[in-house]
Amino acid sequence: MQQSSQTAEQTFTDIMLWRPALKNFLTVFSPLFMAMDKLSNEMVTNFDLFALPACQPERMQNGISILADFNFPDLAQPLAHISAQLSGQLQALPNLQGNVDPYQKYFAQVHLSEQAILWRSIVTNDANILQELAEKLNLDAAILHFLAKFFFSVLLKALVTKTYGASDISKEWPWDTNNVWQQGYCPVCGAYPTIGWLDKPTIDERNTYLLEGGGRKHLHCGLCGANWRFLRLSCPNCGINESKELEMLTCTDNTHGESLDHCSKCNSYYPLVDLRERINIPHLDAQALGMLHLDLIAHEKGLMPLRLSFWNSFN
Ligand SMILES: [Zn+2]
Ligand SMILES: [Zn+2]
Repeated sequence: MQQSSQTAEQTFTDIMLWRPALKNFLTVFSPLFMAMDKLSNEMVTNFDLFALPACQPERMQNGISILADFNFPDLAQPLAHISAQLSGQLQALPNLQGNVDPYQKYFAQVHLSEQAILWRSIVTNDANILQELAEKLNLDAAILHFLAKFFFSVLLKALVTKTYGASDISKEWPWDTNNVWQQGYCPVCGAYPTIGWLDKPTIDERNTYLLEGGGRKHLHCGLCGANWRFLRLSCPNCGINESKELEMLTCTDNTHGESLDHCSKCNSYYPLVDLRERINIPHLDAQALGMLHLDLIAHEKGLMPLRLSFWNSFN
């Protein structure tokens, strides 16, 4: 049986049925997520994009992400395009309402020298890196960071698709071959994953022969869209390899395969979805946002998200 991959909207619709309390929140972000995917896909074919470097197994075995020392060409044009195309969806976000224009003006022509600063703040997830720049521009560093993450994400997802092929849950990525990538951070951009997933059994459809039992762990990068295989009983943050330190946290009896994986040594956690318990393949970025109820529990327990995002930073 072929399982279909959901759009962000379809995943949000499922989650809103299961957790009506999240309805208002998810309804606000659904159009933005849909627009980002559409734009990213369009840019793969309609935009004159450069390709990212090929996967080099020797570098990757040493834990060096593909973009670790990559010199991006001038991104002013794609950033301006993305910012303009997402304008309507951003205007609708309650936390930005009435405050998007000065940022759009900035992203319409980002200077080359500032692109590297934006990139560094995104990949390390540190808004403070933008403080000086924001002061110079008379903008708010946190909002600049928030928007830059969305814009770079659209661009990176297009670049990853163009270079390594479309992101399909059953695909073997170049860095999965011979398990050359063993790290808890993204093999392409170096960011920490936003969500993990356990795969379904693989069945040879012609003679219904079970090829793999499923349940292997993968991590997903919400920034560039890459996935990679990861050791089931290892912590992506501190690398500890002892099952007694790694715990799973779930919420209800009917979990829909949703849980949090957390590490009692370093106190980090990330959401995890077991695809063996799902009929359709959820949109992973929408799925991560829709597990906010578990982020709240993690926060109460004093755990830290592996990748800080706008929905899981409670200050
Ligand atoms: Zn990435
Ligand atoms: Zn840990």
